[in-house]
Amino acid sequence: MTATLIDGKAFAQKVRSDVARDVKSLRDNHGVHPGLAVVIVGEDAASQVYVRNKVRQTAEVGMQSFHFEMDASTDQKTLISKVKELNADPRVNGILVQLPLPDHIDEAAVIETINPAKDVDGFHVVNSGKLATGGGGMVPCTPLGCLMMLQDNLGDMSGLRAVVVGRSNIVGKPMAQLLLDANCTVTIAHSRTKDLPAEVAAADIVVAAVGRPEMVKGEWIKPGATVVDVGINRIPAPEKGEGKTRLVGDVEFAAAAERARAITPVPGGVGPMTIACLLKNTVTATLSQNNIDPASL
Ligand code: NDP
Repeated sequence: MTATLIDGKAFAQKVRSDVARDVKSLRDNHGVHPGLAVVIVGEDAASQVYVRNKVRQTAEVGMQSFHFEMDASTDQKTLISKVKELNADPRVNGILVQLPLPDHIDEAAVIETINPAKDVDGFHVVNSGKLATGGGGMVPCTPLGCLMMLQDNLGDMSGLRAVVVGRSNIVGKPMAQLLLDANCTVTIAHSRTKDLPAEVAAADIVVAAVGRPEMVKGEWIKPGATVVDVGINRIPAPEKGEGKTRLVGDVEFAAAAERARAITPVPGGVGPMTIACLLKNTVTATLSQNNIDPASL
C-alpha cells in the first residue's frame, strides 16, 4: 500500500476533545449547558447501535443528553408533538430524529417540524437551502466530517477536480455543495452516469457514497488522488468462520490504496467523524441560539 491512511478515529477523538473544551467553557463562562435530544422510533438494530453511541458520546463531552425511545407503532401526530415539545424546551439545543422512520410516518413531515436552529442533522429544507445559497445553517454531519478530513489532509482544495459518487440528500448532494464552496470543480455521479470509471479517473478527490460494496474499483483511481469512502457495507467473511461478516466500504480499498496518495479506511474512516460532527453541530447551535461569539470560548 502506498497511500497514507486518513485516520478518522483519531481525527474524531480530536474533534470530541475540542467539543468537550467548548462545552466546559460554555458552562463555566456563559452559564449555558448544551443539550442534545435524540428520538428513536422502533427497534431497527443498526439505528439502536447508532443511538446508543450518540447518547454515550454526548454524555462523554459533558453535554446534557435527552433520549426518547418510542414504540414502532407510534403515529406521526404523536412523533410530531414530541418534536414540537423539544422545539419549545430551552434545555434542548439540538434535536435528532433517528432515520429511517417506520413506513407509516412521513420522514419529510417530521424533519420539517424540527426548528431549523435546532436541526443538528442539517436535513431541514431551510438548512439545505442555506447550504446551497452561501452557508450559515447547520451542515449535515457526514459530509461535514468528510470535508474536515479532506481539508486537514489537503489544505487548500481550490481548483481540484472532485467527483462525488451518490446524490442522496444526506450525503452526496451536501458533500458536493461543500466541495464547491471549497472551490473544487465538482462532478456528481449517480446510477445513470454513463461512464463512471472515466469520471472517477479524472478526479483529484473521490468521495464514494453509494452503498454498494467495493463498487468503485482501484484501477479507476487517478494516481495521487485522495479518496474518502463513506460506504458502510456488511458482507460475508467465510475466512473468519461460518456465518461471520466484515465491514467494507464502497471503494475497492486494497487496489485503490496502491494508487491514491491518501485514503480513508472502512471501518475507522468517515464513520467515527459523523457522531463527532453531530456534537460539534450541537455546540454551533448552542452558540447561535444564545448569541455567543465562538471566539469567546
Ligand atoms: P442512498 O441509497 O440514499 O444513495 C445512494 C446513491 O448511490 C444514489 O444517489 C444512487 O444513485 C447512487 N448509486 C447507486 N448505484 C450506483 C451505481 N451503480 N453507480 C453510481 N451511483 C450509484 O445512500 P446514502 O447516501 O444514504 O448512503 C451511501 C452509503 O454511505 C451507504 O453505504 C451508507 O451506509 C453510508 N453512510 C455512511 C455514513 C457514515 O457515518 N459513515 C452516514 C450515512 C451513510 P441514484 O440517485 O441514481 O439512485
